[in-house]
Amino acid sequence: MALVNKVLIIGGGIGGMCAAIQLRKQGIAVDLVEITPKWTVYGAGITISGPTLRALRTVGVVDEVLRRGGHWSAIDFCAADGTLLNTTALPHAEGADDLPPSGAIMRPVLADILSHATRDAGVQVRLGLTFQTLAQDEDGVDVVFSDGARGRYDLVIGADGVNSKLRALLFPEVKPLEYIGQGVWRAVMPRPAEIVRPRMWFAQHIKLGVNPVSKSHMYMFITEDRPTKEHIDESTWPQVFAGLMRPFTDPLVQALIPRALEPEAAIDYRPLANLLVPAPWNRGRVVMIGDTVAATTPHLASGAGIGIESGIVLAEELGRHGDLQTALDRFHARRWERCRLVIHNSERLCRIEIEGGDKQEHARIMRESIGALTQPI
Ligand SMILES: Cc1cc2nc3c(=O)[nH]c(=O)nc-3n(C[C@H](O)[C@H](O)[C@H](O)COP(=O)(O)OP(=O)(O)OC[C@H]3O[C@@H](n4cnc5c(N)ncnc54)[C@H](O)[C@@H]3O)c2cc1C
Repeated sequence: MALVNKVLIIGGGIGGMCAAIQLRKQGIAVDLVEITPKWTVYGAGITISGPTLRALRTVGVVDEVLRRGGHWSAIDFCAADGTLLNTTALPHAEGADDLPPSGAIMRPVLADILSHATRDAGVQVRLGLTFQTLAQDEDGVDVVFSDGARGRYDLVIGADGVNSKLRALLFPEVKPLEYIGQGVWRAVMPRPAEIVRPRMWFAQHIKLGVNPVSKSHMYMFITEDRPTKEHIDESTWPQVFAGLMRPFTDPLVQALIPRALEPEAAIDYRPLANLLVPAPWNRGRVVMIGDTVAATTPHLASGAGIGIESGIVLAEELGRHGDLQTALDRFHARRWERCRLVIHNSERLCRIEIEGGDKQEHARIMRESIGALTQPI
């Protein structure tokens, strides 16, 4: 298969945008189609781990992310009543001593930074659009879009997320995602002065945490075990969230309960599931990255990070080899184990939490995973 000059990316999420920016740096022409007409993203916070900050430095947006987000070098762990159990220092990602070991930002702010960088890189972005049909031959892929337009590409990258239409088309054997027995609640709140870095509180079968996302705000998350994936009426989310905060008797948490009931809290609930499609992640000239093929539960806060890294590695390998198959083989060789580790270890952490399992094992998996992810990609 010959060199790649023109690429279509389907999906303008974090993974798709970063891949697009990196491909432009290789001189490759990139069209990106995004199904939402206004490129919207929901208003929760997202943790940007050290390795993810390193990846965002490669993409060229880390300064802006650090300027508009929050960052820190340690996490406080507390009992439900606020007693400090320990403060754990986080390691720097290798080759990134100049960056903080971790950070967080509001998702719409990150999307704003990346969408501007995508357009500035010369990517042709079309919103409110998706593909209708794909037909590939030896030399390229013919695409018909939902507005009837047509295009021919050397490579198509699927980055349309965990409910990917492209994956359903090309990998029909992949089973629908299965609920894992835990859900995550998130809220946005003003940051009390004492919250200068993430803090986590532990109660029986439930964990609450806060991460600063800017100078003025933080996001709060609560992981809750629920054996079945029941429907929770959205109008009740603020009351449910406030109820889940009550067992955390730390006065700092109690004082924040009224905040959960305000509309600005923008409470969000996600039942958790994961997905790891066996490699290779391509069918001929169509390859998938990000949540499309490797979607994790958030226990290592690395889902977006591995998607960004995959975009970087794919662009690097396409730029390095004159032959597409060699580039894709190298891409899979470099990405499989790292994505597998994040998904597998995050699921193990989740199961230990649900089963009330061994805390030492939980701490060990956490430590080892963070250590592995600091390694170069
Ligand atoms: C509760 C929760 C908390 C998380 N916390 C963290 C965290 O703290 N840190 C972290 O690194 N990761 C976290 N993650 C994971 C992270 O959110 C995802 O890994 C990341 O958003 C995936 O990016 P993506 O670009 O692959 O997919 P998405 O973000 O899903 O983007 C897909 C894009 O494709 C578009 N699209 C969909 N279908 C089509 C179509 N047919 N045609 C065109 N466009 C389409 C969508 O509109 C969207 O813009 C968390 C996940 C969950 C569920």
